[in-house]
Amino acid sequence: MIFKQTSTKTERSGVQLLESTRAAFGVKLNCYAFYSDDVLIDTGSYSLRQPFRTFIDDVKPSMVLITHHHEDHTGNASYCNSKGIPVLMNPLYRKECTEKANYPFYRRVFWGKRPAFQSEALPEVIHSGRDVFKVISTPGHAADHVSFLNESTGQLFSGDLYVSPKTKIVLREESIPAIIRSIREILTYDFDEMFCCHAGYVKNGKKAMKLKLEYLTKIKEKVTALHHEGLGVNEIQQTMFPKKYPIMSFSRGEWDSKHIVSSILEEL
Ligand SMILES: [Zn+2]
Repeated sequence: MIFKQTSTKTERSGVQLLESTRAAFGVKLNCYAFYSDDVLIDTGSYSLRQPFRTFIDDVKPSMVLITHHHEDHTGNASYCNSKGIPVLMNPLYRKECTEKANYPFYRRVFWGKRPAFQSEALPEVIHSGRDVFKVISTPGHAADHVSFLNESTGQLFSGDLYVSPKTKIVLREESIPAIIRSIREILTYDFDEMFCCHAGYVKNGKKAMKLKLEYLTKIKEKVTALHHEGLGVNEIQQTMFPKKYPIMSFSRGEWDSKHIVSSILEEL
């Protein structure tokens, strides 16, 4: 299999960003890790370990904060273990991460097999070298998902809560109503710049989150209305999300717009 990989290191408002991409079969995926004050936020995927390890060696973080257990965020946590750097994450999936990851083939192909790693439970507030980070529970994309707000700078590290303004497909385990609740929660905080693990630097982060909330709220209302008209999951999907994306068949349905509809209907 031939993969095309790229990686780019940039700096925005005092935060260092490493973006790495991996492309094959007409699908291109990317992920970011961030270094703020003396803290590393997420670690990239194991398949892209070369650039992420170089980045980690370069910035020498005093600790690593994990937004959620997915393999494109935890792929190099074991490397941080080997360097004696503490890794902190939501306790929900800590135990699962002490074993080698087990997830579908296409994810292993793209992201590699996340090695086992050890972590400590996240406290509510983290004091780094200079700044203070608040840990905010934001489930929906994953049950253990958290966001980190650097209260000293007003910068939000939103993991996979944002990703794109108009969600068209989601993972089977994702819940749109839970994401809506998490965005409402995050909007009660003071922040402006946002660092998203797939969209990267978002200058007007709060505005972007508000737009996403509006979009998802409309989606939820429309799905609910169509359901009351008597349409089933497949009919609602065909009406609202007729477009097919390569990742849908490639992931054998793990990524699908159908999960947007079903997660909304589940809570009615
Ligand atoms: Zn994720």
